[in-house]
Amino acid sequence: MKSGYPQNLKAKTQKPFSRLGLFGGTFNPIHYGHLRSAEEVVEALQLNQLWFMPAAVPPHKAPPDLTPFPVRLAMTRLAVGRHPVLKVSDVEGRRPGKSYSVETLRFLKEELPPDCELFFILGLDAILEIQTWKDYRELFHLCHFVVLDRPGFDRSLLQEVLLKEVHHDIQPLADQTGFIHPSGYRILFQATTLLDISATRIRRLTREGRSSRYLLPERVRRFILRNKLYLDNCQ
Ligand code: ATP
Repeated sequence: MKSGYPQNLKAKTQKPFSRLGLFGGTFNPIHYGHLRSAEEVVEALQLNQLWFMPAAVPPHKAPPDLTPFPVRLAMTRLAVGRHPVLKVSDVEGRRPGKSYSVETLRFLKEELPPDCELFFILGLDAILEIQTWKDYRELFHLCHFVVLDRPGFDRSLLQEVLLKEVHHDIQPLADQTGFIHPSGYRILFQATTLLDISATRIRRLTREGRSSRYLLPERVRRFILRNKLYLDNCQ
């Protein structure tokens, strides 16, 4: 089995897939905002698979009390279960140091069949800060981007960020569905059900002894309670 492949996916025996979604995040914990968006992106873009890739050491969120990677990975696996298309990859836990998306993408480009198109999925809040990511300009030479709407974030801000920070010749697509980079990769808006759920809120509710039921899969909620996660003063 190639390193980083989802647990139940054997590289050699699996039929090659041509459209693969990659959904990175801290997933501390994963919740229905992530899961419902993933389900809708898979359907809209006709992805063969979508991999959740929890960051081992998230570059932007690594307080000393961050829930350990194996625990976040376990919760992500519990949430996804045996879904036929959604999978979980531990690829970012196999590298020491910070989990930079650009390094993960370079690695996967080497590992995956050359005809596999990669779609990197992230929220509008995240892409609006893309200039803070390591080697972010290179990312636009490795994959398409799928941008999820987030409550309180305005799509119209993205064009300016892309032109100013990424490349002066990024063009809007004629049908207003996003942009195209000179590399040929696209940055696509994807409307999904807007669920104003955040992991921060789930952690806070748990710490305060309040209910987080229906914000995340019940199996994950029970795992959190059983393992007494988020009871300390973590953010
Ligand atoms: P935290 O509250 O700890 O900052 P989070 O809930 O934002 O966490 P992350 O793991 O940081 O979750 O998010 C991973 C990716 O999922 C990011 O690209 C983020 O924009 C996106 N995302 C987070 N919450 C939602 C949501 N409710 N709907 C759609 N996308 C989301």
